[in-house]
Amino acid sequence: MVRVLFVAFVALVTVGCATNPATGKRQFNLMSEAQEISAGQEADAQVKKEMGLYNDPNLQEYISSIGLKLAQLSERPNLPWHYSVVDVPAVNAFALPGGYIYITRGILPFLNDEAQLAGVLGHETGHVTARHAAQQYTRAVGGTVGLVALGIFVPGARPFGQLAEQGLGVLFLKYGRGDELQADQLGARYVARGNWDPAGVPDMLTTLGRLDEASGQRRGVPNWLETHPEPLARVKEIQPAVQQLSAGRTDLVRNHDAMLRAVDGIIYGDNPDQGVVRGASFIHPPLRFRIDFPNGWDIQNSPEQVIAKASGADVYMLLEQVQMPRGNGVENIARAQMENAGFRILSGSRDRVNGLDAYVGLYQGSLEGLGNVRMRAAHIVHNGNIYLVAGFAAPNIFDPLDSAMLMSIRSFKPLTADEAAAVRPNRIDIYVVREGDSWQSIAERSGGVIKPATLAVMNGAEPNSQPMVGSRIKIVVGG
Ligand SMILES: [Zn+2]
Repeated sequence: MVRVLFVAFVALVTVGCATNPATGKRQFNLMSEAQEISAGQEADAQVKKEMGLYNDPNLQEYISSIGLKLAQLSERPNLPWHYSVVDVPAVNAFALPGGYIYITRGILPFLNDEAQLAGVLGHETGHVTARHAAQQYTRAVGGTVGLVALGIFVPGARPFGQLAEQGLGVLFLKYGRGDELQADQLGARYVARGNWDPAGVPDMLTTLGRLDEASGQRRGVPNWLETHPEPLARVKEIQPAVQQLSAGRTDLVRNHDAMLRAVDGIIYGDNPDQGVVRGASFIHPPLRFRIDFPNGWDIQNSPEQVIAKASGADVYMLLEQVQMPRGNGVENIARAQMENAGFRILSGSRDRVNGLDAYVGLYQGSLEGLGNVRMRAAHIVHNGNIYLVAGFAAPNIFDPLDSAMLMSIRSFKPLTADEAAAVRPNRIDIYVVREGDSWQSIAERSGGVIKPATLAVMNGAEPNSQPMVGSRIKIVVGG
């Protein structure tokens, strides 16, 4: 969770017909190249603001150098190409029109060599050169669905608005199967031109296909499988092109060690700078607080808010920072915000939560996607910020849940400097496999922060295989 304001942007589009630079085919385009670039620029600012770039200049430089090499070998070398690692734990990569390519921090440990990394970057580059990104964007912004998906967020007016819609949804529209196959083909072409083994494309598809849909998934940024369907079917389709591209080539490289060096030490999972989930607790070291959600609930941390959900029921708790609070004193601010969100107060009083000034109320209102809800909400003042902690459910099931929600609210408490400093991220480390090791034993040695199957997939292996003695592999070490 970080303080975020969404920026509204409007893209002007005109209609035209142009030759697709990557495919050579005439194509109906709603965007000129200049428009494509300016749309990309604007959305790039939004991506950086909401996801943030991963703070590791060497890694950024490494990714950028590989990406730019591919771009120079593409059909559109003169676009203002940018390749960046966003500070997101989800496993994904995406492209904006105009040559803005992003790869998540979360996908990097799963790419086992430089050829696979080039495969992902080449694939995304292909979406831009073939103008898929521009077309998707045009479709989204040109249609009413896209405007809703953009979710122009007016701070204060829609305090819970992001529950149902993600503001960045427009970036993650699914490409069609044809577009995916074409991006795979173009990616393999650029990878081979850059002297990497084009088998990096099917290899990365195999690895990402092995990843469980749920793993690496975080609210806000979907995972690769949601935005790039059918990876395993695509492995077969790309094989003939890979064989053709590598025929007679003896200069193709994989660069396994370079990739290991690049990811050694990077953060795996939550970054404490954005708050971390540990068991049933959410801890935010920079903002200096922690809160315990009810046991067994699923907790999702995103830039705007933290959402906890009871399993199998439409019962939620949410935590967010109140943006631009209006009024004087916590009671007025609380009442104004809730009223503004269309909520009616049933009861409420000033209170103290672990020594912090607060206003705790019971409200009635409705939320997109849920309908009528009753909400137990606390507005808590801490370090000059006001936090909203709220539990809600349909009125007919709410009452028995109220005490658990109140208990969560009452667990909100400040962190000391020492407590904040003690929260460390999990990181990738390199390990040499010894006699008698199994994926299971290595995962256990890592303190259980990663499942044996995920560890195997991360190292390009089948979950039920044995790690090769003497090989250098990636492991995750607990913070
Ligand atoms: Zn794709």
